[in-house]
Amino acid sequence: NSIKLEDLVQLGKIGSGNSGTVIKALYVPESKIIAKKVIPVENNNSLVVNQLVRELTIMKSVHSHGNIVSFYGAYYSQSTGNEIIILMEYMNCGSLDKILSVYKRFYERRMIRADDIWFNELVISKISFAVLSGLSYLYEKYKIIHRDIKPSNVLINSKGQVKICDFGVSKKLINSIADTFVGTSTYMSPERIQGNVYSTKGDVWSLGLMIIELVTAEFPLGGHNDTPNGILDLLQRIVNEPSPSLPTGGDYCFSVEMIDFVNRCCVKNERERSSINELLCHDFISVHKKQGKEFRHWCKKVKVNLKEDKQIRREENERAKLEK
Ligand code: ATP
Ligand code: MG
Repeated sequence: NSIKLEDLVQLGKIGSGNSGTVIKALYVPESKIIAKKVIPVENNNSLVVNQLVRELTIMKSVHSHGNIVSFYGAYYSQSTGNEIIILMEYMNCGSLDKILSVYKRFYERRMIRADDIWFNELVISKISFAVLSGLSYLYEKYKIIHRDIKPSNVLINSKGQVKICDFGVSKKLINSIADTFVGTSTYMSPERIQGNVYSTKGDVWSLGLMIIELVTAEFPLGGHNDTPNGILDLLQRIVNEPSPSLPTGGDYCFSVEMIDFVNRCCVKNERERSSINELLCHDFISVHKKQGKEFRHWCKKVKVNLKEDKQIRREENERAKLEK
C-alpha cells in the first residue's frame, strides 16, 4: 500500500536546501497533502543510489512516533533526470527557520509588539521537549543518532505538533551521489568537528545552539558566512571559543530554568554535557508541562502569520513590479 508517484499532483515549491527541493503535493486517491523531497543525483551511480533507496525504505518503520515526521516512501526516478524522491508527511507551519524569518520580516515592518508571539519560553520548552522525545525514541529503539538537528529540520503544524525530520541517512552517502556538495553544518558539536567519537550528545549541542538562535534571531557563533574561509573560521570558533550561552541584559530577560537548560546543552566537553534523558527531566521542561493548550494556540497563530506574511510579500512584489 505504498504511494505511486503517478498518483501525485504537484502543488508548488515549499523550499530548498543544500541537497534538494521540497514540493507540496496532493495524493489524489486519498485527497491528502504530502511533502515530496527531490534530490537530483548524478546518473553514473545506480549502485549507490539503490543502496540509498534501500536504506531509506528501512526507515519507514522508524517513523511511527509523535515527534518524528511520517515517512511514506523513497524512490529512484529517471523520468525527469535522475533523482531520489522521498515522500513524507506535510507539516503546514513549516520549519522553525521559516517561522523565524517570517517573524524577522514582521519585526522589520514593525508589526510585532514586544510582548507578542515570537519564540517565548513556553514555546521553546515545548519545542525542546518534542525534539528530545523524538531523539530519545530514535536512539533507545533503533540506536539512530540524528546528526542534523537545526531549525530547518524541526517542523510544526497547526495542530500543535512538533516533529523532527531528515535523519539517519548519512551525509556521506548523499554527498557521493548528489549533484551538489552537502556542506558542513555549523550546528556541529566541537567533538564532531574534531573528528572524535560521536554520540547522541552531539544532537544536544545542536539543540542548545538552535534555542539561542530562535530567541535572539541570530546564529550564536557569529553569523552564517558561506565563503569557504568563513566556514573554517566558524568551525575554529566553535572548537576554541568559550561555550555559547543566552545573552543577558539589554532587552533580554530569561528564566533561571531556561538559562540553565541552554548552558547544559552547550557544554563543549561532551562528557560533561547533559544527556537527552537528563534534559527530559529538567525543570525547564517540567514547569511548562501543563501548557499544551497555550502551545496549540501559538501554533495556530503561526499558521495565520505565515499566511499574512505571504500576502504582504505578494503585494510588495506587485508594487515593486509596478514601480519598474
Ligand atoms: P539542508 O539541505 O542543509 O538539510 P534544509 O533542511 O533547509 O537544508 P530541505 O530538507 O531540502 O533543506 O528542506 C527545505 C525546506 O522545506 C525546509 O527549510 C522546510 O522549510 C521545508 N520542508 C521540508 N520538509 C517539509 C515537510 N515535511 N513539510 C513542510 N515543509 C517542509
Ligand atoms: Mg532538511
